[in-house]
Amino acid sequence: MKTSFIPSSCSSCQTGAVRLLLVEDDASLGQVLVRGLVEEGHAVDHVMTVAGAAEAASINEYDLVVLDLGLPDGDGVDLCRTIRASGSGVPVLMLTARDGLSDKVAGLDAGADDYLTKPFDYPELAARVRALLRRPASATKPILGVGDQVTGIRLDPAAHTVWRGAIMVPLTAREFSLLEFLLRRVGDVCRREELLEHVWDANYDGLSNVVDVHIANLRRKLELPGLGDPIETVRGVGYRIVDSD
Ligand code: CA
Repeated sequence: MKTSFIPSSCSSCQTGAVRLLLVEDDASLGQVLVRGLVEEGHAVDHVMTVAGAAEAASINEYDLVVLDLGLPDGDGVDLCRTIRASGSGVPVLMLTARDGLSDKVAGLDAGADDYLTKPFDYPELAARVRALLRRPASATKPILGVGDQVTGIRLDPAAHTVWRGAIMVPLTAREFSLLEFLLRRVGDVCRREELLEHVWDANYDGLSNVVDVHIANLRRKLELPGLGDPIETVRGVGYRIVDSD
């Protein structure tokens, strides 16, 4: 087990930067990611197995986990579920294979905060890592939402329910995923392409305005009498939900 555990670079430890656990069995991809993340001043432990990850997590506390789905001795989704079951809210970025829509859904259901589809360019991974590290700890709580109990929105990923104030709002599966994605990035503009990739999938080739159509439906359902439109349109770019509190 120990052989799969490569201690982090000491030069990066000394900066007092965040500590990342990278679980990736593709050695060359792992090296590229370690090099990039260390250059950004992070401490990185790279393991290649579920067992290696469990051992590393028993020794160190991590600020973020980058987790490949297919591992030689187990499944990244199960590992993610184990992390969450232990009560840890550590942000988890999952790496999934192209076409693996069900993998993405399973990953998010297991408590992953974000996912990246392989193959990806390193700068995109670095940007996702930065975004996850910027998030307040409260963002990793299971219930997502903005606003207060009276007018706000609450989304419970586990129970698959959405509330606007005190009223439960029935949504289609796609509308639910779209709202969940926006709520996981409160304050950030979500580009249409990003929504297409994450909520539909990278190979979606249907109507080009499918995002806008679903956003319109979501707005109609969430815009209850006396309660405003929670979704902002950022012209020419995409959409965002802002927490007005
Ligand atoms: Ca793999």
